[in-house]
Amino acid sequence: MSYTYDDKNIFAMILRGDIPNTTVKETEHTLAFRDINPQAPVHILLIPKGKYVTADDFAANASAEEIVDFWRCYGEIAAEEGLAADGPGHRIISNAGEHGLQEVPHFHVHILGGQGLGPILTPRG
Ligand code: 5GP
Repeated sequence: MSYTYDDKNIFAMILRGDIPNTTVKETEHTLAFRDINPQAPVHILLIPKGKYVTADDFAANASAEEIVDFWRCYGEIAAEEGLAADGPGHRIISNAGEHGLQEVPHFHVHILGGQGLGPILTPRG
């Protein structure tokens, strides 16, 4: 797999501090912040600080330390936001590439919750 990272994407700008964000959690390798256009009462974007374009790019090319840090952050955020699956639960989504309708070409996971979220996809006609 070969990916070309665009340094001008909006999440790269957020990571450089060029654009403000509402930070939920930050570690050496990972940043989580609130989505600017929330689709649920809780809508957080979780991103690695490294230059990965998509989930499969991250899975193939990130270090073990980055991957563990990313998913530990996810679990901590779910608990801290009151969304753990032994409570009300939540949904995670990562759009990848053209068919996934990914808008921002820096790998991110949407963490959504705070209400019942309905079916994951609208069936295609
Ligand atoms: P995608 O369609 O790539 O999976 O999702 C991109 C997400 O980034 C969207 O939910 C959109 O609302 C969010 N987004 C786009 N620009 C900004 C921004 O400048 N700040 C924040 N916090 N979120 C953004």
